[in-house]
Amino acid sequence: MSATSTASQILAIDGGPPVRETLLPYGRQSIDEEDIQAVVETLRSAWLTTGPKVAQFEEAFAARVGATYAVSFSSGTAALHGATFAAGLKSGDEAITSPLTFAATANCALYQGARPVFADVCEDTLILDPDQASAKITSRTRAILPIDYAGHPVNLDSILEIARRHGLIVIEDACHALGAKYRKHSVGSIADMTVFSFHPVKHITTCEGGMVTTDNADYAEALRRFRNHGISSDARQRQSAGQWHYEMVALGFNYRLPDIACALGLSQLRRLDGNLARRRAIAARYTAAFREMPGIIPPGVRPEVSPAWHLYPIRLDLAKLSADRGEVFRALRAENIGVNVHYIPVHLHPYYRDRFGYKGGEFPVAENAYERLISLPMFHGMTDQDANDVIAAVSKVRLAFAR
Ligand SMILES: *Cc1c(COP(=O)(O)O)cnc(C)c1O
Repeated sequence: MSATSTASQILAIDGGPPVRETLLPYGRQSIDEEDIQAVVETLRSAWLTTGPKVAQFEEAFAARVGATYAVSFSSGTAALHGATFAAGLKSGDEAITSPLTFAATANCALYQGARPVFADVCEDTLILDPDQASAKITSRTRAILPIDYAGHPVNLDSILEIARRHGLIVIEDACHALGAKYRKHSVGSIADMTVFSFHPVKHITTCEGGMVTTDNADYAEALRRFRNHGISSDARQRQSAGQWHYEMVALGFNYRLPDIACALGLSQLRRLDGNLARRRAIAARYTAAFREMPGIIPPGVRPEVSPAWHLYPIRLDLAKLSADRGEVFRALRAENIGVNVHYIPVHLHPYYRDRFGYKGGEFPVAENAYERLISLPMFHGMTDQDANDVIAAVSKVRLAFAR
């Protein structure tokens, strides 16, 4: 620091005053009185689970994304597992996915005894590169599992074209992308199966929860059985039919989403458009500011998409900074900006290194991006002042580390 610096320019990590008094998290839920009422009503009703709210939430969700069927699950991870089951993934099969995602995207192939095969991502958007995916296809490949990183839809035209040519099933991990559009079509209506999560940091929440959407009746049937022990009818169907008999026809799990969670989901779904508009406004504010800041690279957006902005991941241009990502990260945290990193590439986790022998260097675009990525706070409850604090903190830290 030069002697002319004012107190507010001294980084909080060096003892200066932070940009904010309290920590702004990178993501968080918004719960209103209507949500609380919906949950309380369901608590007072006859059905806490496998009741009418489940079908109501599923129907409303399917209508919202333009799919024929929506099948709810107890988490996004359970929904991914259901999708790999319905797709028929089994031991000896391979599923091609991105290394730059949450581990669950790849783990769901392992749950079925299949092997996740990683393919590198595109430099501009960090979504799965269709050419890299294509190059990984073998006689054992059965599915492609792309992820809509940060809420930016994957290149579905190319991915689906490759899949059709090779007879593969496309399971889109859209846990970041509820409300996103690809060529004017809603994510959830395009791939063979699309998977969503309702974890509190996502666009709508059911505490824990997930959904698979599809237009395929056979997949929908398999998904419903899988989440209910592999049994061919649920308790409410049997009660209304006055029957006790049921058959377990496949090995399934208890992955059901309770009525209380579905009531919350239904209530939250009504606010999805507002949540999306808010996230888009914050992203626009960020991008306008960061475009002007040397050393800070805002996320790329392709013209054919409307992203849902689950995350706002900037990349550092390290040639223009005297600090690495770790130092910038710590400096921003000290300013009370709850930054995060999405993601440690999946193949670099100890489990994947030990099991499959990855050493690093296999996926240079994803790995290079990972070294420079920082996720800034992004959630629909953020105020303009919150967003301005983030911009001020990034600007302050960037200036202090400018080369
Ligand atoms: C959140 C998330 C999941 C898992 O969802 P849970 O509901 O937490 O199980 C899977 N994939 C991605 C990309 C996610 O962001």
